[in-house]
Amino acid sequence: MQTWYSPAIMKIIHILLPLPVESSVYCYRIPDYVSVPPLGIFVSVPVKSRKMIGIVWKKKIDDRMALEKIKWVSKIHWDYRLPENLVRMIRFVSAYTMSPLGAVLKLAMPAPETIVHPPYTATYSLQKPTVKCTRLTPARKRILRALEPSPLQKSSLMKLSKTSKATIDRLTQLGIIRESRTLDIPRQEFPKGLDTNIALSPEQQKATDTIAKYFKTFKSIVLDGVPGSGKTEIYFKSICQVLRDNGQVLVLLPEIALSEQWLERFAQRFGIKACVWHSKITQKNRREIWIGVAHGAIKIVVGARSALYLPFTHLGLIVVDEEHETTYKQESGVLYNTRDMAIKRASIAACPILLCSATPSLETWHNIKKRSYVHIEIPRRFSGNPSPKITLLDTTTEKMERGKYMAPTLHKHVKNTLENGLQTLLFLNRRGYAPLLVCTSCGYKFECRNCRSWLVFHQHNRKLLCHHCDYALEEPFLCLGCGSDNTFFSQGAGVERICKEVRQQHPSARTYIATSETLNTIDRTRDFLRKMERGHIDIVISTQILAKGYHFDKLTLVGVIDGDMILKGGDLRAGERTFQMLHQVIGRSGRKIAVGQAFIQTQDPENPVLTALADDKRNTFLDKELAQRRYYRQPPFARLIAIIVTDTDVIRCQKVSDMLKKKAPIIKNMRIFGPAEPYMSYLRGRYRRRFLINVSKIIDNRLLTQEIQQWIAEIKPLDRATRIQIDVDPQSFL
Ligand code: ADP
Ligand code: ZN
Ligand code: ZN
Repeated sequence: MQTWYSPAIMKIIHILLPLPVESSVYCYRIPDYVSVPPLGIFVSVPVKSRKMIGIVWKKKIDDRMALEKIKWVSKIHWDYRLPENLVRMIRFVSAYTMSPLGAVLKLAMPAPETIVHPPYTATYSLQKPTVKCTRLTPARKRILRALEPSPLQKSSLMKLSKTSKATIDRLTQLGIIRESRTLDIPRQEFPKGLDTNIALSPEQQKATDTIAKYFKTFKSIVLDGVPGSGKTEIYFKSICQVLRDNGQVLVLLPEIALSEQWLERFAQRFGIKACVWHSKITQKNRREIWIGVAHGAIKIVVGARSALYLPFTHLGLIVVDEEHETTYKQESGVLYNTRDMAIKRASIAACPILLCSATPSLETWHNIKKRSYVHIEIPRRFSGNPSPKITLLDTTTEKMERGKYMAPTLHKHVKNTLENGLQTLLFLNRRGYAPLLVCTSCGYKFECRNCRSWLVFHQHNRKLLCHHCDYALEEPFLCLGCGSDNTFFSQGAGVERICKEVRQQHPSARTYIATSETLNTIDRTRDFLRKMERGHIDIVISTQILAKGYHFDKLTLVGVIDGDMILKGGDLRAGERTFQMLHQVIGRSGRKIAVGQAFIQTQDPENPVLTALADDKRNTFLDKELAQRRYYRQPPFARLIAIIVTDTDVIRCQKVSDMLKKKAPIIKNMRIFGPAEPYMSYLRGRYRRRFLINVSKIIDNRLLTQEIQQWIAEIKPLDRATRIQIDVDPQSFL
C-alpha cells in the first residue's frame, strides 16, 4: 500500500500463488510494523497488472533478491486461512505427483470473491456516545428513531424507516450510526436428530462396531461386500456416530452428478439434502460450502474428486465409495488418484478412512493381504437373495444371425423376463450406433481429424462423433476416398444398434437407452429412474453409467453384449478392470424380487477372468492377479511413472523424445521403457510419445522426484507447443 514506504524498514514474506508454474512461491514485502502472518493466511498481491490471492508460505529468504523489485502485499486477509492440515496436504500431493505447488494450491483455492467479498449481514446501531447530526433530513430522522430501541439488520432498518441504502450508508460514513458485520455462515441442521432410524442386521452391527473402534485414529478400513450387502447403510450409521461427536465427514463418490438415487436415500436417512461438491455446482453454492466447511458449520459433504481439498478442520471420517473406480484418477491438470490422496488426508487428520467396494482394487487387496488395512467382509446380500447366476455364452458356437449382436439364448431369456413382467439390462460400454463407418466402394474409414481414432456413428442425431475430442461431422457424410455420399456400411455395435435389434425381436417391449447423452441432466435422470421404478421400462440398454450404485427392484436379467471388450485393450489392468466392471453390472440383477441371472457373451469362454466371474471365485482371481503382478514386478509391487511428450508437430515430438532417451538417468532399481507410440498416438490435435518408468518401491520418493525433474529440466527450453507431462501411478495407458 502507498503508505508503507521506507524500503529500509520492511519485512519479506513468501506467498504461494495458485499458478501452474514450477516455482510458484514469490517474495512480497510488508511494512515493519505489521506482524508476519502465519502460514496459510490468504493475501492479495499484485501479479503483473492484476491482483491475485495466494497464501502465506514458509520458505527460506533468498537474500540475493533485488530488494527494490519486491512488490508490496496489497492486503492481508487476517480472517481467512487454509487450515494447516490442508497446507500439509498440498505439500504432499505436489511432491507425490511431481506437480508444481501452485497447481495443487489451485485445487484448494476458493473463488477470490469468497475471500474479498465474503457474504455478511450488516447490523446498525446508534453511535454511543451519540454524535450530533447537523443536517437532520426527515429520512435521517426516521433512521435514528428506528434505531433508538435496539439495533437492526439492514433490511428491517430500510423497511421500518422507509429509507434507501444510500441514506443509511451516508449516516454510517458520518459516524452517526455504526455498522457491524457478521459473516453469513451456512448451517447444516439435521431435523431428525442424528440417526438413520434403520435397524441393522447383526452383521452390519458388527461392522459399525469395528469401524467405531478406530474413530479418532488413522486407519484404512475396507468395507468389502457384494453389491446389495448393505454397505451404504453401514457407513450411514458410522457417519451418524461421527456427526454426533461433532466431527466432519467427507464422502467421495464417483460420477457424483448421476447418483440421484444415492442423494435421495441420503435425504431420507438424514432428513436434509446432502451438500454436494463437484465441478458443476454454482459459484454461490461453492462459496457457501467452502465457508461452511471452513467454519465447521457444514459437517458432511458428498463430492467427487475435488471435494478432497475442502478446508475441513475437524475431519472425523472419510468414505470412499467404489474405491476401485478408475474415475477417481484425475486425468488432467494435477494427475492424482483421489483414493490414495484421501488416505493421506485421513492420515494427516488422524481419522479413519472407509474404502467400500464389491471388487477391491489390487492395490487395496494387497494391503488387505499384508494386514495393513482392516478388512470387513459382508459376503451376502441384505435381502438374502443369492448373487446372480452367471452363464458364459460362446458367440462362436451360438447360432448368431448375420448382422445381429445378441445370441439366441440371450434373446430367449429377454423374452422370458419380459413375459414375467420383469426388467432386463443389456450392457455395452459404447455409445452410438456403430464404432466405425466404412465406405463400401473404396474401403475408406472415417477418422477423426484431431485424433487417431475412428468416428462413431450416432444414429439418433445422424452424426459422426469422436469420443476423444469434440469433433463432429454431420450428414451428408462425404467419403474422403472416393467422394461418394451413400455407400457406407456401419461396422460393429453401440447401444443404439443393440436397441434396434431388441425392438425388432421384442416389438412389444418398452426400451430405453441409458448413456451420458440421454441422462445428461438431473431431470432426465430422475425421469428415467421413476420410469424404471414404476416398471414403465422393460429393457434398458446401457453403458457403464448404470453399472454402479443403482438399485431396481424388478431388474432380474443382465446381458453383457461384449465380455471381451476391455480384455482386448490388453493393458496391465485389463483383467482387473473387466472383473470389476462386469461384476458391478451383474450386481444390478436380482436385488429384490427374484434371483438374478446374467449372461456374458464372449468369443473366449475359457478366459480366466470370465470363468472366475462365472464361478464366483473373486478372491482366487485377485490372488492370482497379485501373484502375476509380483512376478512381473508391476504395481502394487513396483511403481509406474509415465512421461508423456506431446506436440502439435510430429517431428519435434519425436526429437524431444529422443533427447529425453539420450539423457535418461541411470538409477539402480529403475527401468525406463520407451519412447513408444501409445495406442492413441495422435489425440486432440497433438502427437504423443510415452516413456514408462518402472521403479522399485525401495527407492526414496524424494530422490526419485529430484532425478526425474532434473532429467526433464535438462532438455528445456522447449518449444511452446511441446509439453511433457508426468503421470505418477498411471491408470490409463491410451
Ligand atoms: P450396498 O451399498 O452394499 O450395495 P445397500 O446399503 O445399498 O448395499 O443395501 C442394499 C439394499 O438393502 C438397499 O435397498 C437397502 O435399503 C437395504 N438395506 C440394507 N441394510 C438394511 C437394513 N439394515 N434395514 C433395511 N434395509 C436395508
Ligand atoms: Zn478426436
Ligand atoms: Zn469411398
